[in-house]
Amino acid sequence: MTNFIFKKLEEKGVPTHLVEELNDRETAVKKVEIVPLEVIIRNFSAGSFAKKMGMEEGIKFKCPTLEFSYKNDDLGDPFINSYYALALGLATQEEIDHITEYAFKVNEVLQEYFDGLNIDLIDFKIEFGRYHGTVILADEISPDTCRLWDKDTHEKLDKDRFRRDLGNVEDAYEEVFRRLGIQ
Ligand code: UDP
Repeated sequence: MTNFIFKKLEEKGVPTHLVEELNDRETAVKKVEIVPLEVIIRNFSAGSFAKKMGMEEGIKFKCPTLEFSYKNDDLGDPFINSYYALALGLATQEEIDHITEYAFKVNEVLQEYFDGLNIDLIDFKIEFGRYHGTVILADEISPDTCRLWDKDTHEKLDKDRFRRDLGNVEDAYEEVFRRLGIQ
């Protein structure tokens, strides 16, 4: 699913790590140094945002939000802002600017694409890598890293089915596959 989505993003001008899908289980990618920031874009309230802000889930925002977490398992990936990232030397201002621009572009492309599949893109997390002096999209984009809700039924078609013990995890992932036209 990541390869399928990354190909679409490349076509729309977002550089990614994708080189070539070798087979069902292996993909050749550019070797990057991961920028230690998780980049989260949100279009609707959900998850930790809804909890923190005391909001119910599924409220559409006036405009998308962007936030960073510091990738550090021992600390539980804490929320940080760009000043923290600069102060701690996690990224340069130029990298943060590129990351921000690409992240909103990814959102624009994916929102429009999922819209056509009758899916609301609630939020997602992406990661970037350093490659020959620039930053490119790396890691993955899949129902493991996005919240995807059916537009009509609001059924969750993502990892929350597993996290919240809702059942039918595989069916939901296969439904996204089917709508993407991969299977
Ligand atoms: N997310 C992720 N990996 C993480 C944290 C979050 O892929 O380590 C994704 C998550 O699937 C959701 C979005 O980022 O699509 C926002 O997650 P949130 O901050 O609401 O955290 P959660 O409530 O999932 O813990």
